[in-house]
Amino acid sequence: MINEIFNSQKKHFQNELKTSSINDRLKKLRSIKNWIKNNKKLICEEIYKDFEKGEEEVLLSEIKPIIDEINHNVSQLSVWTKPKRVDTPLAFIGSKSEIHYEPKGVTLIIAPWNYPFNLCIGPLVSAIGAGCSVIIKPSEHTPNTANLISRMMSELFKEEEIAVVQGDVSVSTELLKLPFNHIFFTGSPQVGKIVMKAAAEHLTSVTLELGGRNPTIIDETANLKDAAQKIVWGKFLNSGQTCIAPNYIYVHESQAQKLKDSLIEQIEIQYSKLDTTRTKIVNSNHFGRLTDLLDKTISAGGKLLYGGEKDGKINFLSPTLISDITIDSSIFKEEIFGPILPILTYSNLEEVIETINKTEKPLALYIFSKSRKNQNYILNNTSSGTTAINETTVQFAQNHLPFGGVNNSGIGKAHGEFGFYEFSNLKSVLKQRVGFTSLKMIYPPYTNFKKKLIRFISFRL
Ligand code: NAD
Repeated sequence: MINEIFNSQKKHFQNELKTSSINDRLKKLRSIKNWIKNNKKLICEEIYKDFEKGEEEVLLSEIKPIIDEINHNVSQLSVWTKPKRVDTPLAFIGSKSEIHYEPKGVTLIIAPWNYPFNLCIGPLVSAIGAGCSVIIKPSEHTPNTANLISRMMSELFKEEEIAVVQGDVSVSTELLKLPFNHIFFTGSPQVGKIVMKAAAEHLTSVTLELGGRNPTIIDETANLKDAAQKIVWGKFLNSGQTCIAPNYIYVHESQAQKLKDSLIEQIEIQYSKLDTTRTKIVNSNHFGRLTDLLDKTISAGGKLLYGGEKDGKINFLSPTLISDITIDSSIFKEEIFGPILPILTYSNLEEVIETINKTEKPLALYIFSKSRKNQNYILNNTSSGTTAINETTVQFAQNHLPFGGVNNSGIGKAHGEFGFYEFSNLKSVLKQRVGFTSLKMIYPPYTNFKKKLIRFISFRL
């Protein structure tokens, strides 16, 4: 069945989609927007069935960013798709050069479970904007949302243009055998490597949106109440199951106690400790992974500062703060991907940067500081996919910025025009005049005059 869908998409792309007009693409994007608007309640219900994510979080983190992404594409697509003239160097005088944005072709989107609607439909918007056909493989861990996306696509599109193929690793593995023109994968670095290896077989281009251990640095000048408000929101949204959530905090020792108090105060304001109505851990495997990590950290000397309430029957883990850990603790070395926030203290910023730079490049890095000097020092001496200063997490929703990682946290960028480029081949088109051209002056045979000319222009190099 997978092969049939792939072949029908290939044929349809070649015969129709390749030359689809901007208006066709806009119509498709608007139809997705209308479908979402008409089915908001249903989207909330299906995501709730998967991991009890509440309506407000669904509206803010699954639906609104997609509507914004569609609106941005609709307003900008005619600019992005327009061939762009580039300058003509002296040697090419008489010719014209342009960049054309050609749709790559038949593409594959593989999505994770943590933002099950957003991370399927977001890349789809970019693919449609660029004029590609798509096979979407949602995560098997959020089956209700996957069914809904399948229904949505069959109501809006023919399978020869957009298809949804559901299933686990075995289905993904089958899909990855096919010679797609582009693969857009969101998930863990471990699986990202598998995807890249499979893509190499066909020299398929890839966008890899991967995970990361996002450092959060709070220096001696930071406003702690402001920092705590933003960190608690960004970390515990979606119960910490967010690729750009702060993974750990490094706080200057002079601010450590006050920060801990402010974080506790903020958790109590934003999330009641025993409020079990909040988003759950997605399944018992992940719940077990997180509670084991917590137990291991505490038995190795970490201090449970706050939270730690759990209920295995409903995969609930409350917002949890851990202190007294070191860079050797296993919780420091892992992507936590849950509602546990470890806090480390520092006295020397250079040492913090050295520690961060010894590990893989993160997807996000957060700086809380009022010192321009410290902000610039951290910015200039670290590498990360995204950096936010005095903020967390919302950089994802700023669709004028590229979103993605670097090396271990990702390859390629999503959102807005950057997402459009991922699904486009930037084709170079050079139009030369017929007859005499300046370049013909250096064609063989190399007469004495031509030899002199070549030496002259080479000398100028
Ligand atoms: P995952 O890598 O386990 O799975 C992602 C997708 O890949 C799923 O659809 C799954 O079916 C498929 N898959 C799993 N194993 C596979 C294999 N061996 N071969 C082929 N396909 C396979 O990730 P997850 O657990 O669903 O999501 C969590 C990870 O995703 C975290 O690391 C998180 O940081 C990352 N993430 C990154 C972003 C981003 O934008 N950078 C966003 C969300 C999540």
